[in-house]
Amino acid sequence: MNIEHICQFIRDTFQTDEFVPLHAPTFVGNEKRYVMDTIDSTFVSSVGKYVDEFEQKIESFTQSPKAVAVVNGSAALQMALYSAGVKQGDLVLTQALTFVATCNVLYHLGAQPIFIDVSETSLSLCPNALERYLNQHATITERGCIHKTTGQRIKALMPMHTFGHPAEMDELGVISKKWQLQLIEDAAESLGSMYKGRHTGTIGDFGAISFNGNKIITTGGGGVVLCASSEAGQHVKHITTTAKVPHAFEFYHDEPGFNHRLPNINAALGCAQMEVINELIASKRVLAMQYREFFAGSDFQFVEEPCYAKSNYWLNAVICPSVESRNTLLNETNSHGVMTRPVWTLMHHLPMFKNALRGDLSYSQWLSQHLVNIPSSALCVDR
Ligand SMILES: *Cc1c(COP(=O)(O)O)cnc(C)c1O
Repeated sequence: MNIEHICQFIRDTFQTDEFVPLHAPTFVGNEKRYVMDTIDSTFVSSVGKYVDEFEQKIESFTQSPKAVAVVNGSAALQMALYSAGVKQGDLVLTQALTFVATCNVLYHLGAQPIFIDVSETSLSLCPNALERYLNQHATITERGCIHKTTGQRIKALMPMHTFGHPAEMDELGVISKKWQLQLIEDAAESLGSMYKGRHTGTIGDFGAISFNGNKIITTGGGGVVLCASSEAGQHVKHITTTAKVPHAFEFYHDEPGFNHRLPNINAALGCAQMEVINELIASKRVLAMQYREFFAGSDFQFVEEPCYAKSNYWLNAVICPSVESRNTLLNETNSHGVMTRPVWTLMHHLPMFKNALRGDLSYSQWLSQHLVNIPSSALCVDR
Protein backbone atom coordinates (compact mmCIF):
# COMPACT_ATOMS: atom_id res chain seq x y z
CA MET A 1 0.00 0.00 0.00
CA ASN A 2 1.59 3.30 -1.04
CA ILE A 3 0.94 6.75 0.38
CA GLU A 4 -0.81 7.96 -2.78
CA HIS A 5 -3.31 5.16 -2.30
CA ILE A 6 -3.91 6.27 1.33
CA CYS A 7 -4.39 9.94 0.34
CA GLN A 8 -6.85 8.91 -2.36
CA PHE A 9 -8.84 6.76 0.07
CA ILE A 10 -9.05 9.66 2.52
CA ARG A 11 -10.13 12.09 -0.24
CA ASP A 12 -12.78 9.64 -1.48
CA THR A 13 -14.03 9.06 2.06
CA PHE A 14 -14.37 12.77 2.82
CA GLN A 15 -15.47 13.48 -0.76
CA THR A 16 -13.17 16.44 -1.30
CA ASP A 17 -10.22 17.56 -3.42
CA GLU A 18 -9.46 20.33 -0.95
CA PHE A 19 -7.45 20.37 2.26
CA VAL A 20 -8.52 17.60 4.66
CA PRO A 21 -8.12 18.68 8.29
CA LEU A 22 -7.37 16.30 11.16
CA HIS A 23 -10.61 17.15 12.93
CA ALA A 24 -13.17 19.80 12.02
CA PRO A 25 -16.32 20.57 14.03
CA THR A 26 -19.76 19.70 12.63
CA PHE A 27 -22.60 22.23 12.89
CA VAL A 28 -25.82 20.83 11.44
CA GLY A 29 -28.44 21.56 14.10
CA ASN A 30 -29.64 24.47 16.21
CA GLU A 31 -26.20 26.03 16.81
CA LYS A 32 -26.96 29.37 15.11
CA ARG A 33 -30.42 29.63 16.61
CA TYR A 34 -29.29 29.10 20.22
CA VAL A 35 -26.22 31.35 19.94
CA MET A 36 -28.33 34.10 18.34
CA ASP A 37 -30.83 33.68 21.14
CA THR A 38 -28.16 34.56 23.75
CA ILE A 39 -27.22 37.67 21.75
CA ASP A 40 -30.84 38.76 21.25
CA SER A 41 -31.52 38.32 24.96
CA THR A 42 -28.19 40.03 25.93
CA PHE A 43 -27.46 37.07 28.24
CA VAL A 44 -24.17 36.01 26.70
CA SER A 45 -22.08 35.82 29.85
CA SER A 46 -22.47 34.52 33.39
CA VAL A 47 -26.26 34.59 33.56
CA GLY A 48 -28.68 32.67 31.34
CA LYS A 49 -30.49 29.41 30.93
CA TYR A 50 -28.09 27.51 28.67
CA VAL A 51 -25.44 26.69 31.28
CA ASP A 52 -27.92 24.78 33.47
CA GLU A 53 -29.44 23.14 30.43
CA PHE A 54 -26.03 22.11 29.11
CA GLU A 55 -25.00 20.65 32.47
CA GLN A 56 -28.25 18.68 32.61
CA LYS A 57 -27.72 17.35 29.08
CA ILE A 58 -24.22 16.20 30.00
CA GLU A 59 -25.50 14.59 33.21
CA SER A 60 -28.17 12.61 31.44
CA PHE A 61 -25.82 11.63 28.61
CA THR A 62 -23.00 10.44 30.92
CA GLN A 63 -25.15 9.42 33.92
CA SER A 64 -22.89 11.60 36.08
CA PRO A 65 -24.39 12.69 39.45
CA LYS A 66 -23.13 16.24 38.83
CA ALA A 67 -21.56 17.96 35.82
CA VAL A 68 -20.09 21.45 36.21
CA ALA A 69 -19.47 23.43 33.02
CA VAL A 70 -16.22 25.42 32.92
CA VAL A 71 -14.21 27.55 30.47
CA ASN A 72 -12.08 24.74 29.03
CA GLY A 73 -10.84 21.21 29.55
CA SER A 74 -7.68 22.41 31.30
CA ALA A 75 -9.78 24.29 33.87
CA ALA A 76 -11.91 21.15 34.31
CA LEU A 77 -8.78 19.13 35.08
CA GLN A 78 -7.51 21.83 37.43
CA MET A 79 -10.82 21.85 39.33
CA ALA A 80 -10.85 18.03 39.52
CA LEU A 81 -7.32 17.86 40.94
CA TYR A 82 -7.87 20.80 43.29
CA SER A 83 -11.10 19.28 44.61
CA ALA A 84 -9.40 15.90 45.01
CA GLY A 85 -6.95 17.61 47.36
CA VAL A 86 -3.84 17.69 45.16
CA LYS A 87 -1.56 20.31 46.71
CA GLN A 88 1.85 21.91 46.42
CA GLY A 89 4.56 19.24 46.57
CA ASP A 90 2.28 16.28 45.79
CA LEU A 91 2.97 13.68 43.13
CA VAL A 92 0.39 12.47 40.61
CA LEU A 93 0.78 9.32 38.51
CA THR A 94 -0.05 9.87 34.84
CA GLN A 95 1.04 9.16 31.26
CA ALA A 96 4.02 10.54 29.36
CA LEU A 97 1.95 9.95 26.24
CA THR A 98 -0.68 12.67 26.58
CA PHE A 99 -1.48 16.21 25.54
CA VAL A 100 0.53 18.77 27.53
CA ALA A 101 -2.56 20.15 29.33
CA THR A 102 -2.67 17.04 31.54
CA CYS A 103 0.69 17.98 33.04
CA ASN A 104 0.39 21.75 32.86
CA VAL A 105 -2.41 21.68 35.41
CA LEU A 106 -0.21 19.69 37.78
CA TYR A 107 2.58 22.21 37.34
CA HIS A 108 0.32 25.14 38.17
CA LEU A 109 -0.98 23.41 41.30
CA GLY A 110 2.64 23.02 42.44
CA ALA A 111 2.38 19.24 42.00
CA GLN A 112 4.59 17.00 39.89
CA PRO A 113 3.84 14.13 37.52
CA ILE A 114 5.22 10.60 37.74
CA PHE A 115 5.20 9.15 34.24
CA ILE A 116 3.98 5.59 33.75
CA ASP A 117 3.97 3.67 30.47
CA VAL A 118 0.82 3.07 28.42
CA SER A 119 -0.54 -0.37 27.54
CA GLU A 120 -0.86 -2.03 24.15
CA THR A 121 -4.52 -2.75 24.94
CA SER A 122 -5.72 0.83 25.36
CA LEU A 123 -2.76 3.16 24.60
CA SER A 124 -3.71 4.58 28.02
CA LEU A 125 -2.12 4.17 31.44
CA CYS A 126 -0.92 0.58 31.87
CA PRO A 127 -2.12 -1.10 35.10
CA ASN A 128 0.80 -3.55 35.12
CA ALA A 129 3.42 -0.84 34.67
CA LEU A 130 1.67 1.18 37.38
CA GLU A 131 1.62 -1.70 39.86
CA ARG A 132 5.28 -2.42 39.18
CA TYR A 133 6.22 1.20 39.82
CA LEU A 134 4.24 1.46 43.04
CA ASN A 135 5.55 -1.84 44.41
CA GLN A 136 9.08 -0.66 43.82
CA HIS A 137 8.87 3.01 44.78
CA ALA A 138 5.89 3.61 47.08
CA THR A 139 4.81 2.77 50.59
CA ILE A 140 1.65 3.35 52.62
CA THR A 141 2.06 5.36 55.82
CA GLU A 142 -0.32 7.28 58.08
CA ARG A 143 0.15 10.20 55.65
CA GLY A 144 -1.13 8.04 52.80
CA CYS A 145 0.89 6.84 49.83
CA ILE A 146 4.47 8.10 49.97
CA HIS A 147 7.28 8.00 47.43
CA LYS A 148 10.11 6.12 49.12
CA THR A 149 12.96 8.12 47.57
CA THR A 150 11.61 11.68 47.72
CA GLY A 151 9.26 11.38 50.72
CA GLN A 152 6.56 13.21 48.75
CA ARG A 153 2.93 12.23 48.98
CA ILE A 154 1.53 10.43 45.91
CA LYS A 155 -1.97 11.83 45.97
CA ALA A 156 -3.69 10.80 42.79
CA LEU A 157 -3.79 8.65 39.70
CA MET A 158 -4.76 10.39 36.45
CA PRO A 159 -5.20 8.10 33.42
CA MET A 160 -6.05 9.72 30.08
CA HIS A 161 -8.39 7.94 27.64
CA THR A 162 -6.09 8.25 24.65
CA PHE A 163 -7.80 9.29 21.37
CA GLY A 164 -11.13 8.38 23.01
CA HIS A 165 -10.23 4.74 23.77
CA PRO A 166 -11.15 3.88 27.38
CA ALA A 167 -8.33 2.95 29.76
CA GLU A 168 -8.42 -0.29 31.77
CA MET A 169 -10.50 1.23 34.55
CA ASP A 170 -11.33 -1.85 36.67
CA GLU A 171 -7.64 -2.63 37.15
CA LEU A 172 -6.75 1.03 37.72
CA GLY A 173 -9.62 1.33 40.23
CA VAL A 174 -8.33 -1.61 42.28
CA ILE A 175 -4.81 -0.13 42.34
CA SER A 176 -6.06 3.33 43.31
CA LYS A 177 -7.99 1.86 46.28
CA LYS A 178 -5.10 -0.32 47.39
CA TRP A 179 -2.67 2.63 47.31
CA GLN A 180 -5.15 5.23 48.64
CA LEU A 181 -5.02 7.36 45.51
CA GLN A 182 -7.71 9.69 44.23
CA LEU A 183 -8.72 8.57 40.74
CA ILE A 184 -9.11 11.39 38.23
CA GLU A 185 -9.93 10.63 34.61
CA ASP A 186 -8.61 12.92 31.93
CA ALA A 187 -11.60 12.22 29.69
CA ALA A 188 -10.96 15.34 27.60
CA GLU A 189 -11.06 13.28 24.39
CA SER A 190 -13.63 10.65 25.32
CA LEU A 191 -17.11 12.18 25.45
CA GLY A 192 -19.35 9.32 24.30
CA SER A 193 -16.84 6.54 25.03
CA MET A 194 -18.09 3.74 27.25
CA TYR A 195 -16.11 1.46 29.55
CA LYS A 196 -18.10 -1.76 30.20
CA GLY A 197 -21.34 0.20 29.89
CA ARG A 198 -20.23 3.15 32.02
CA HIS A 199 -19.35 6.53 30.58
CA THR A 200 -15.67 7.46 30.76
CA GLY A 201 -15.11 10.23 33.29
CA THR A 202 -17.77 8.85 35.67
CA ILE A 203 -15.78 5.88 36.98
CA GLY A 204 -13.20 7.67 39.12
CA ASP A 205 -13.68 10.39 41.76
CA PHE A 206 -13.65 13.09 39.09
CA GLY A 207 -13.52 13.27 35.31
CA ALA A 208 -12.69 16.16 32.98
CA ILE A 209 -14.04 16.59 29.45
CA SER A 210 -13.01 19.21 26.88
CA PHE A 211 -15.19 21.00 24.31
CA ASN A 212 -12.35 22.67 22.46
CA GLY A 213 -12.91 23.16 18.72
CA ASN A 214 -11.09 19.94 17.78
CA LYS A 215 -12.92 17.67 20.22
CA ILE A 216 -15.94 15.49 19.41
CA ILE A 217 -18.36 18.32 20.18
CA THR A 218 -17.41 21.92 20.78
CA THR A 219 -18.60 24.97 22.69
CA GLY A 220 -15.88 27.12 21.09
CA GLY A 221 -13.88 26.68 24.26
CA GLY A 222 -15.25 24.79 27.19
CA GLY A 223 -15.08 21.85 29.50
CA VAL A 224 -16.97 20.00 32.16
CA VAL A 225 -16.05 18.45 35.49
CA LEU A 226 -17.86 15.18 36.16
CA CYS A 227 -18.17 14.56 39.89
CA ALA A 228 -18.81 11.18 41.53
CA SER A 229 -21.08 12.70 44.19
CA SER A 230 -23.51 15.59 44.05
CA GLU A 231 -21.90 17.08 47.21
CA ALA A 232 -18.49 17.19 45.48
CA GLY A 233 -20.26 18.65 42.46
CA GLN A 234 -21.88 21.42 44.46
CA HIS A 235 -18.50 22.39 45.86
CA VAL A 236 -16.91 22.42 42.40
CA LYS A 237 -19.75 24.66 41.19
CA HIS A 238 -19.14 26.93 44.19
CA ILE A 239 -15.41 27.38 43.63
CA THR A 240 -15.76 27.84 39.86
CA THR A 241 -18.14 30.74 40.49
CA THR A 242 -15.88 32.82 42.81
CA ALA A 243 -17.10 30.93 45.94
CA LYS A 244 -19.87 33.50 46.34
CA VAL A 245 -22.38 32.79 49.07
CA PRO A 246 -25.88 33.33 47.63
CA HIS A 247 -27.48 36.57 48.83
CA ALA A 248 -29.93 39.07 47.35
CA PHE A 249 -27.28 41.82 47.17
CA GLU A 250 -24.24 41.25 49.43
CA PHE A 251 -20.88 40.10 48.05
CA TYR A 252 -19.54 37.49 50.43
CA HIS A 253 -17.10 34.76 49.36
CA ASP A 254 -16.15 32.01 51.81
CA GLU A 255 -12.94 30.64 50.23
CA PRO A 256 -10.49 31.52 47.44
CA GLY A 257 -12.55 30.90 44.34
CA PHE A 258 -11.96 30.80 40.61
CA ASN A 259 -13.77 32.42 37.73
CA HIS A 260 -13.99 29.29 35.61
CA ARG A 261 -17.69 29.17 34.77
CA LEU A 262 -18.64 28.57 31.13
CA PRO A 263 -20.31 31.63 29.54
CA ASN A 264 -23.92 31.27 28.42
CA ILE A 265 -23.05 31.91 24.75
CA ASN A 266 -20.68 28.92 24.76
CA ALA A 267 -23.20 26.76 26.61
CA ALA A 268 -25.81 27.62 23.95
CA LEU A 269 -23.50 26.17 21.29
CA GLY A 270 -23.00 23.13 23.53
CA CYS A 271 -26.76 22.55 23.90
CA ALA A 272 -27.15 22.42 20.13
CA GLN A 273 -24.15 20.10 19.80
CA MET A 274 -25.54 17.73 22.44
CA GLU A 275 -28.69 17.36 20.33
CA VAL A 276 -26.59 15.67 17.61
CA ILE A 277 -23.98 13.87 19.72
CA ASN A 278 -25.38 10.39 19.03
CA GLU A 279 -25.35 10.98 15.27
CA LEU A 280 -21.79 12.35 15.49
CA ILE A 281 -20.54 9.31 17.37
CA ALA A 282 -22.34 6.93 15.02
CA SER A 283 -20.74 8.72 12.08
CA LYS A 284 -17.27 8.57 13.63
CA ARG A 285 -17.66 4.87 14.27
CA VAL A 286 -18.64 4.33 10.63
CA LEU A 287 -15.50 6.21 9.56
CA ALA A 288 -13.34 4.09 11.89
CA MET A 289 -14.78 0.88 10.43
CA GLN A 290 -14.02 2.14 6.92
CA TYR A 291 -10.42 2.82 7.92
CA ARG A 292 -10.20 -0.57 9.60
CA GLU A 293 -11.33 -2.32 6.44
CA PHE A 294 -9.03 -0.22 4.26
CA PHE A 295 -5.89 -0.88 6.33
CA ALA A 296 -6.70 -4.58 6.95
CA GLY A 297 -3.90 -6.76 5.63
CA SER A 298 -1.60 -3.76 4.98
CA ASP A 299 1.66 -2.88 6.76
CA PHE A 300 -0.22 -0.20 8.68
CA GLN A 301 -2.04 -1.38 11.78
CA PHE A 302 -5.26 0.52 12.40
CA VAL A 303 -5.77 1.29 16.11
CA GLU A 304 -9.01 -0.34 17.29
CA GLU A 305 -11.03 0.12 20.45
CA PRO A 306 -10.19 -2.26 23.33
CA CYS A 307 -12.50 -5.33 23.41
CA TYR A 308 -14.17 -4.21 26.69
CA ALA A 309 -15.04 -0.74 25.41
CA LYS A 310 -17.14 1.24 22.99
CA SER A 311 -14.98 4.12 21.81
CA ASN A 312 -16.04 7.44 20.30
CA TYR A 313 -13.05 7.05 17.91
CA TRP A 314 -12.25 10.73 18.42
CA LEU A 315 -8.91 10.53 16.61
CA ASN A 316 -8.15 7.61 14.34
CA ALA A 317 -4.60 6.32 14.27
CA VAL A 318 -2.37 3.87 12.47
CA ILE A 319 0.81 2.24 13.70
CA CYS A 320 3.45 2.28 10.97
CA PRO A 321 5.80 -0.66 10.40
CA SER A 322 8.97 1.47 10.80
CA VAL A 323 10.18 4.92 11.75
CA GLU A 324 11.01 5.55 8.07
CA SER A 325 7.49 4.67 6.93
CA ARG A 326 6.06 6.87 9.69
CA ASN A 327 8.16 9.82 8.48
CA THR A 328 7.22 9.19 4.85
CA LEU A 329 3.53 8.97 5.72
CA LEU A 330 3.69 12.28 7.65
CA ASN A 331 5.67 14.07 4.94
CA GLU A 332 3.69 12.85 1.95
CA THR A 333 0.21 13.33 3.39
CA ASN A 334 0.89 16.80 4.80
CA SER A 335 2.54 18.00 1.59
CA HIS A 336 -0.53 16.80 -0.35
CA GLY A 337 -3.13 18.61 1.72
CA VAL A 338 -4.12 15.66 3.89
CA MET A 339 -3.46 16.55 7.50
CA THR A 340 -1.85 13.88 9.65
CA ARG A 341 0.07 14.23 12.90
CA PRO A 342 2.51 12.25 14.98
CA VAL A 343 1.54 11.56 18.55
CA TRP A 344 2.44 14.34 21.02
CA THR A 345 6.07 14.71 22.06
CA LEU A 346 6.33 12.62 25.21
CA MET A 347 6.00 14.76 28.32
CA HIS A 348 9.43 13.90 29.75
CA HIS A 349 10.98 15.26 26.55
CA LEU A 350 9.53 18.73 27.22
CA PRO A 351 11.81 21.12 29.14
CA MET A 352 9.43 21.65 32.06
CA PHE A 353 8.96 17.94 32.77
CA LYS A 354 12.38 16.57 31.84
CA ASN A 355 13.34 15.88 35.45
CA ALA A 356 10.04 14.26 36.40
CA LEU A 357 10.03 10.86 38.09
CA ARG A 358 9.17 8.01 35.75
CA GLY A 359 8.95 4.28 35.29
CA ASP A 360 10.01 2.39 32.19
CA LEU A 361 8.44 4.17 29.19
CA SER A 362 9.54 1.90 26.38
CA TYR A 363 6.11 1.34 24.80
CA SER A 364 5.30 5.08 24.91
CA GLN A 365 8.67 5.69 23.29
CA TRP A 366 8.01 3.11 20.60
CA LEU A 367 4.54 4.52 19.88
CA SER A 368 5.90 8.04 19.57
CA GLN A 369 8.08 6.78 16.71
CA HIS A 370 5.44 4.69 14.95
CA LEU A 371 1.96 6.15 15.51
CA VAL A 372 0.28 8.64 13.17
CA ASN A 373 -3.15 10.23 13.60
CA ILE A 374 -5.22 10.45 10.43
CA PRO A 375 -8.19 12.68 9.44
CA SER A 376 -11.12 11.98 11.77
CA SER A 377 -13.88 14.56 11.28
CA ALA A 378 -17.39 13.18 11.42
CA LEU A 379 -18.64 12.29 7.94
CA CYS A 380 -21.83 13.87 6.68
CA VAL A 381 -24.45 13.93 9.45
CA ASP A 382 -28.04 14.09 8.23
CA ARG A 383 -30.65 15.82 10.31
C1 LIG B 1 -7.86 18.73 24.75
C2 LIG B 1 -7.23 18.09 25.93
C3 LIG B 1 -7.12 18.74 27.17
C4 LIG B 1 -7.44 20.18 27.41
O1 LIG B 1 -8.61 20.67 26.98
P1 LIG B 1 -8.73 22.24 26.60
O2 LIG B 1 -10.19 22.41 26.46
O3 LIG B 1 -7.98 22.41 25.31
O4 LIG B 1 -8.14 23.02 27.71
C5 LIG B 1 -6.61 18.03 28.23
N1 LIG B 1 -6.18 16.78 28.11
C6 LIG B 1 -6.22 16.13 26.92
C7 LIG B 1 -5.75 14.73 26.85
C8 LIG B 1 -6.73 16.77 25.80
O5 LIG B 1 -6.74 16.12 24.63
